[in-house]
Amino acid sequence: MTKTDHTEIQCPQCGHNEFEHPENLQDNDFVKCNSCYFEIMLADLKEVGFEQAKDVAIPEAQAEVEKIFKNLFKGFK
Ligand SMILES: [Zn+2]
Repeated sequence: MTKTDHTEIQCPQCGHNEFEHPENLQDNDFVKCNSCYFEIMLADLKEVGFEQAKDVAIPEAQAEVEKIFKNLFKGFK
């Protein structure tokens, strides 16, 4: 498992924003909250991220979240 840095996306359980995830993360892989150990499938976490992005009124919410994930889940070892 590798670790993200602080993400823009918060754990749906506790609001923490660091997650552990397997290398070569795919949409159907599970990521784990570093704080409360809540596990969530990446695809579902993205959904959460979309909702959170909408809440802060980012017009291109989905594109933004995709960008965030591309940046954060690559290169962290
Ligand atoms: Zn959590």
